[in-house]
Amino acid sequence: MAPRTFDPTDPLSLDDLLSKEEIAVRESVRTMLAQRVQPYIADWFEAGEVDNPRELFREFGKLGLLGMHLEGYGLPGMSSVDYGLACVELEACDSGIRSMVSVQGSLAMYAIWRWGSEEQKRRWLPPMGTGEAVGCFGLTEPDYGSDPGSMRTRAKRDGDDWVLDGSKMWISNGTFADVAVIWAQTDDGIRGFAVPTDTPGFSARLIKHKMSLRASATAELVLEGVRLPADAAFPEVRGLRGPLSCLTEARYGIVWGAMGAARSSFESALEYSKSREQFGRPIGAFQLTQAKLADMCLELHKGLLLALHLGRLKDSSGLTTEQVSFGKLNNVREALDICRTARTILGANGISLEYPVIRHMNNLESVLTYEGTVEMHTLVLGQALTGQDAFGGA
Ligand SMILES: Cc1cc2nc3c(=O)[nH]c(=O)nc-3n(C[C@H](O)[C@H](O)[C@H](O)COP(=O)(O)OP(=O)(O)OC[C@H]3O[C@@H](n4cnc5c(N)ncnc54)[C@H](O)[C@@H]3O)c2cc1C
Repeated sequence: MAPRTFDPTDPLSLDDLLSKEEIAVRESVRTMLAQRVQPYIADWFEAGEVDNPRELFREFGKLGLLGMHLEGYGLPGMSSVDYGLACVELEACDSGIRSMVSVQGSLAMYAIWRWGSEEQKRRWLPPMGTGEAVGCFGLTEPDYGSDPGSMRTRAKRDGDDWVLDGSKMWISNGTFADVAVIWAQTDDGIRGFAVPTDTPGFSARLIKHKMSLRASATAELVLEGVRLPADAAFPEVRGLRGPLSCLTEARYGIVWGAMGAARSSFESALEYSKSREQFGRPIGAFQLTQAKLADMCLELHKGLLLALHLGRLKDSSGLTTEQVSFGKLNNVREALDICRTARTILGANGISLEYPVIRHMNNLESVLTYEGTVEMHTLVLGQALTGQDAFGGA
């Protein structure tokens, strides 16, 4: 056997831990994105909108990226590791693009797949898998983010019908979704509803002036007397268990995805460090730059190893919510740090959209906050370690 040589793109030889089929999944996603998204992404970010997102959803559907790890209803039924590898490629492009796919597959589709009635599953999952239908997931409200249990959106019975009133804030894909999974207070605890967005009383307003995740539509949803038939409610689940189970799915994808943004920024900084000269030498020849690159490389590949480890566990015996918090907390925090360090290596060019770094860095500020803030995941681990709940609350 030939001796192993150092590969800067895979210094821990993590590819040895992947099957040929898994590598093929990664390559097919990478190839599609290189043609279909990469050339346009900086412009979309600058414009604050993805050009024809519905078409992009259909293309993602063709590639089997939507509800990728879910089985039945014509869905791909791939492994969690396959899904994770796809998330790395999507987020190496842009966190907003990965968010489009995560919200569709891990939040909206997963909610229906896990908690919906048979009729809801048959109605929504096949077209969502092909990208013909788009979903969004409404949990956060203007006044309640980290504390969703206090939400004000309310669903009341009126005869057999439900009537929903309230608002949801920061809802990804909300402006063009066909179905909104809405979580609302009822007399029987928090319940989930599959709300067709053309129901009278439902409206979505695009949130403007974002400096992060600009290549992703984020909306405020308003529900004013939205009347739904009895079967619009998810039949069984009550309380925060419903939405939190979906968040755990989406957070798992982020554990991988964040490392994609980090990889893209690291590669950009490494390349730049070889070509940019100051004081008559490439800046990569300076010890301070090498220290930055070495530290970025450590955290990037440790993060990917962690993601793969969690993926293998998820596929074999499942993950605890604390393990998902462990991964999300570590990988997003480290990915953001890598992007910030990469930005310094690019100097002034680091703030330009000509390079991907500032875009990734700004995007990761959202990723650090959504799907549970860095503080929430710290408290999840703190509680698991000490047995003490430090979330506050009465
Ligand atoms: C671009 C983007 C897209 C999003 N997409 C969606 C979506 O599709 N669907 C959806 O439902 N939501 C979505 N969100 C919302 C996101 O999940 C929330 O922003 C997040 O849960 C945090 O809530 P908040 O912004 O209200 O912050 P807050 O909860 O008000 O928190 C503010 C700060 O206080 C800290 N804090 C709060 N409580 C405590 C405590 N007990 N101890 C210590 N610190 C505390 C937080 O960690 C944070 O640092 C999105 C957000 C963004 C930015």
